[in-house]
Amino acid sequence: MGNIIYLDNSSTTKPCEKAVENINIALEKLWGNPSSLHLLGVQAEIPVTEARESVAKLLSCRADEVYFTSCGTESNNTAVFGVCSSRKKRGNRIVTTAIEHPSVLEAFRKMENEGFEVIYLKPDKNGVVSAADIENAVNSSTILVSIMLVNNETGAIQPIKAAADAIKKSGAPALLHCDAVQGFGKMPINVNSLGVDLLSVSGHKIHGPKGIGALYMKKGVTLPSLLVGGGQEKGMRSGTESVPLIMGLAGAIDELGNINDNLKKAKDLWLYAKDKLIATGLVAINSSREALPYILNISVEGYRSEPLLHFLESKGIYVSSGSACAKGEGSYVLKEMGLSSHLVDSALRLSFSRFTEKAEIDALCEALTQATQRLRRVK
Ligand code: PLP
Repeated sequence: MGNIIYLDNSSTTKPCEKAVENINIALEKLWGNPSSLHLLGVQAEIPVTEARESVAKLLSCRADEVYFTSCGTESNNTAVFGVCSSRKKRGNRIVTTAIEHPSVLEAFRKMENEGFEVIYLKPDKNGVVSAADIENAVNSSTILVSIMLVNNETGAIQPIKAAADAIKKSGAPALLHCDAVQGFGKMPINVNSLGVDLLSVSGHKIHGPKGIGALYMKKGVTLPSLLVGGGQEKGMRSGTESVPLIMGLAGAIDELGNINDNLKKAKDLWLYAKDKLIATGLVAINSSREALPYILNISVEGYRSEPLLHFLESKGIYVSSGSACAKGEGSYVLKEMGLSSHLVDSALRLSFSRFTEKAEIDALCEALTQATQRLRRVK
């Protein structure tokens, strides 16, 4: 592939050099089974232990509270199904938002079909659920609250601490889970300040490999596992650990640099992009100023997302219409925010990484202008 402009980093990111290097080392040299008692096993176990410490450092938790999984989806499923099955005798209400990633939303729908009372909190026009709504939703029979840290379509940051406070205030026997896949490695995360019991992360959104995730489980919390077998990950997640992917994730974390410095650069780029896009006179901004500045959701009113996306692709610019998982359907997240169907149908999600440059934004604006000259306008 020649020079491309990749503005779809919330779908996935290009693995960074250290991730690739680590994966190769694992495949070529550290291919032992970390559970083996002999030297090859011990050699493979060391980088797994180190990677666990790296993840723990990013979450401000203990290494023994980090469990490796195969992806963010598995972490989310483990949390939702695990809490529901282990606490169902203590209450029947579970609370989430209407704008969660499908790996949480579908898990809740499944639980709803099994008889749980589910509250789906709605966001305001900025894409944020309110602390007051959370507090109203949590009652004494609530056993689980699951709210994402950063929405994957708009970047809207959700009030996780308010959910922790609501649980405490109500005296509910609820655990708090947070899907932090879009915030991990991009903003400071402290599980204790957030007040969460469970938190999900994924490797491939931070220039690590696909197929590796982790679940933070607060010490003392126990859940049934989805997979049973050899008892790896202290019985939470059987299956031989993927040393290459775990080392790849550790490589990506190593290469992150300073999260706050990256965040400052991202904010500068986000503001630049917003102003430049507004100046084209073609674009409405759907993300709020308070959003995590790695995601900028826009609408090019009068033009449908998919032809726009393909026009940009023909110019070597890669963006997304809604999330990668929405595949052409109008975004339920934007609909929940109350956006008109015109805005929903013409939405594009731009998502940046620490490697995104202003010149790439200039090229995007140029290409969008061309797109509106070449594509057919819809009413
Ligand atoms: N949660 C959110 C908010 C996401 O954006 C994603 C991926 O798009 C996931 C969960 C799923 O992560 P994974 O692709 O590692 O399963």
